[in-house]
Amino acid sequence: MMNVPPEQSDEQAHGTRVCAQCGAPFRCGMLAGDAACWCATLPALPLDRLRPGVSCLCPACLAREIERAARPD
Ligand SMILES: [Zn+2]
Repeated sequence: MMNVPPEQSDEQAHGTRVCAQCGAPFRCGMLAGDAACWCATLPALPLDRLRPGVSCLCPACLAREIERAARPD
């Protein structure tokens, strides 16, 4: 079960998301209304790497997940 902090929904209104992994706030281009989010410039994660209900990670965590997906342990 996800434990969503109450302040998250408030921040989402300003185009800011909280990283589901480390809790760091970061800007989401999709939420902010940009033509494209910064995450669109990164390689897409395999679907099996995504957790249900978690669509965005901060730049640092997303890069780490992509690296992990490319190089399995
Ligand atoms: Zn993070």
